[in-house]
Amino acid sequence: MTVPARVRTRGNGRRPQAGPATSLPETQWESALSALDTSDPIALLCHLHPDGDALGSMLGLGIALRRSGKNVVGSWGGGVQLPPTYRMLPGREVLVPPEEFPVAPDLLITLDTSSPERLGELARALDGARTVLVIDHHVVGDGFGTHHLIDPAAAATAVLIDELLRRLGVTLDAEIATCLYTGLTTDTGSFKYASTTPAVHELAGRLLACGIRHDVLSRQIWDTNPFSYLRLLGRALDRAAIETDAAGGLGLVWTWTNRDELDRHGLTMPEIEGFIDVIRTADAAEVAVVCKGDADRTVKVSMRSKGRIDVSAVCAQLGGGGHRFAAGFTSTVCVEDTMNALRALLAVAPHLPE
Ligand code: MN
Repeated sequence: MTVPARVRTRGNGRRPQAGPATSLPETQWESALSALDTSDPIALLCHLHPDGDALGSMLGLGIALRRSGKNVVGSWGGGVQLPPTYRMLPGREVLVPPEEFPVAPDLLITLDTSSPERLGELARALDGARTVLVIDHHVVGDGFGTHHLIDPAAAATAVLIDELLRRLGVTLDAEIATCLYTGLTTDTGSFKYASTTPAVHELAGRLLACGIRHDVLSRQIWDTNPFSYLRLLGRALDRAAIETDAAGGLGLVWTWTNRDELDRHGLTMPEIEGFIDVIRTADAAEVAVVCKGDADRTVKVSMRSKGRIDVSAVCAQLGGGGHRFAAGFTSTVCVEDTMNALRALLAVAPHLPE
């Protein structure tokens, strides 16, 4: 038998690897499945200011569990109003306002949430719940929960939900697939990030085969903004600064906005999450930063790198976290001092191989 010649690429350790989309130990799946099997009702929680992966994972799982006869509710701290971008998601019937969220659920499942703080006011359910199953793909510091499906190698929490549903014997349909596709496309940056493996495309293919309107979803998620968003983005871009000597010569691009400007444009903090994705396209900068001053005088900092700097390590030193190339933190000092602290950390941050 002839062994086919391998296609060789220059390895950087971040090249998408072939293999399953998630590969957690069997014992973790077994204990998660038995918790699901023996629990009813089930309460689902995702993080504050939920993104497409948090909402898609929660609603997709919610639809599937309801269909299998479970009593399911879902929520997140701070509200039950879906962000405009995700209003088209099915499964909203499982959502309850935070004040109606069970205090002591039989089984609590947290989704896409790396720490109890990310649950806001609803972190209280962690104390009352009999069992807490944590489903996530963040690098988690201090663990919480009694059962865990945590795979930092998974491109999205939605990947773990897909595998969980497969093991539960749930057949994907257009509603569930719409939710999971939303999570997958959000967390892979529309299948552009390094986390986009062959298995991610294989999952996307299975979801498309359910007959979802991925074109409508994608336009809503990636290509639709209020006009006032463009106006404020214009202001933020106009004052963006580039510092080519920063980050040990790899370069830094950054800008800022604040609550006052957001209010004047009728925008909320989560709605301008996408600013960083425009700022980070500057070619002379490895690292991109957007500082968003909040009403409580804190500064919410979003940070991205193109692959040479582990920004989650930088943000962790300032009390935040995230993924290696997409992370953030909340600063309690002004923008100027925040940026000085960041410059100092970036100057000594190790450079990852190209
Ligand atoms: Mn996620």
